[in-house]
Amino acid sequence: MEPKDDNISAMCKPSVGEAGRTGDWRDATPVIDQTKCIAAVKNRPACYLCWLYCPEGVVEAGVPVKINLEYCKGCGVCAEECPSKAITMVMHEENGK
Ligand code: SF4
Ligand code: SF4
Repeated sequence: MEPKDDNISAMCKPSVGEAGRTGDWRDATPVIDQTKCIAAVKNRPACYLCWLYCPEGVVEAGVPVKINLEYCKGCGVCAEECPSKAITMVMHEENGK
C-alpha cells in the first residue's frame, strides 16, 4: 500500500448553477451599480469578491462584472461581501418580476 499523501484532500469542484435554473423561483435579484463597482470604476480586473463568494459560481469576473441570472438563486451573499455596496438585492415584488 502506498503511503498517504497529506497534501491531498477532498474538494468539491465548483460548477455553474449547482441549484439548477433558478429564474422561476428566485425571489430577489442582485443588481450591480457599475458606478460603484471597483472593477468598473478602475476599468480593469479588480476586487471580484462577489465572484469569489458566490456559492453558485454565476458571477462573471470581467469588466464589467456580470451575473448569470438564469442560475443565480438570489441568496444575497454577493451583496453582503461587496466592499463598495455596489450590489443591491431587489425583491421581485419591487421590480415586477
Ligand atoms: S445572489 Fe449573488 S451570491 Fe447569490 S447566487 Fe446570485 S450572484 Fe451568487
Ligand atoms: S464585490 Fe462589488 S466592487 Fe467587488 S467586483 Fe463585485 S460588484 Fe464590484
